[in-house]
Amino acid sequence: MAEVLYHNDIQDEVLKAKKVAVVGYGSQGHAHAQNLKESGYNVVVGLRPGKSWTKAENDGQEVKRVADAVAEADVVMVLLPDEHQPSVFEHDIKPNLQAGNALAFAHGFNVHFNQVVPPADVDVFLVAPKGPGHLVRRTFEEGAGVPSLYGVFQDYTGQASEVAKAYAKGIGSGRAGVLETSFQEETETDLFGEQAVLCGGLSSLVKAGFETLTEAGYQPEVAYFECMHELKLIVDLMYEGGLENMRYSVSDTAQWGDFVSGKRIVDEGTKERMKGVLNDIQTGAFAKGWILENQANRPEFNAINVRENQHQIEQVGRELRELMPFVKESEKVKSEKEVV
Ligand code: NDP
Ligand code: MG
Ligand code: MG
Repeated sequence: MAEVLYHNDIQDEVLKAKKVAVVGYGSQGHAHAQNLKESGYNVVVGLRPGKSWTKAENDGQEVKRVADAVAEADVVMVLLPDEHQPSVFEHDIKPNLQAGNALAFAHGFNVHFNQVVPPADVDVFLVAPKGPGHLVRRTFEEGAGVPSLYGVFQDYTGQASEVAKAYAKGIGSGRAGVLETSFQEETETDLFGEQAVLCGGLSSLVKAGFETLTEAGYQPEVAYFECMHELKLIVDLMYEGGLENMRYSVSDTAQWGDFVSGKRIVDEGTKERMKGVLNDIQTGAFAKGWILENQANRPEFNAINVRENQHQIEQVGRELRELMPFVKESEKVKSEKEVV
């Protein structure tokens, strides 16, 4: 089994002596900056004037323009949206890096696909929390954490790995587990997971189930509860105890249905197509398409987004959630997301 590090396995003196610039104060940025600061690290937030600047200042952070924050820092964690990183890197980050500094990321995409080419005389590492930013913050406040992967792309000082681990500890990941990876593995598995299973696979599965029921004449509200709402309860059971725990909790009829019908839905053909998705990730074909889509100002992304938001499952869902005040709990997540 791979070695998983925890809080007490990791020394943090190596990073305590340094200044960390957290560039960006969005989903990940606000969590990293606040967690690191509360863990006793010396943090400056790098931003452009705007919404995030005000929020970071209100949270008690020292805030500077990206170029100034980078110039005074030893470790620069880049937490901008991936598609904005190359230009901010060229204009504001690269000219202000000094030999021996460390350049860090929370996702390997830009370095792995050569959209950001770091100078040879800096350390380059990633610390990728395996969870959304608002959870990185919330679990930290609760005394827990989100697991992180760390990986070294370039080790100029000989300290890159130690600094990366200390960083992961600082954001609270030592409480949940810190595991070594490479930029290639993190990038390819992250893209595959979100495309095939977590986001792409799941949203397509939910929509197909909903459409099958409504096209057969069943009420959309019933189809919504069955195919979307209940999903959370099932996923919570898996999260807590794997498939076995989920199957223990559902009825034996549901478990039998799982065994005989699941494989009629997701079969060997599905797996073959998953391999196709993985292949496009590995060859860079997916990355190329996404980079070009951004350069063209996202025409296809925006068109699909509008269409998806108008899907009947979304319309019914909005109405039903209005009537379920307890689901509003997730509004907290939404508001956190909106402020950041
Ligand atoms: P966000 O979209 O939440 O980041 C937005 C932040 O970037 C805002 O503070 C925004 O400031 C700032 N920003 C955008 N453009 C610029 C610019 N040109 N100059 C200065 N600041 C700018 O990003 P995420 O937190 O989602 O992602 C950050 C990194 O973390 C990515 O590499 C991503 O892959 C990775 N990651 C994200 C996860 C997540 O949970 N979202 C999970 C794991 C990894 P302003 O208010 O001025 O626009
Ligand atoms: Mg991702
Ligand atoms: Mg049932």
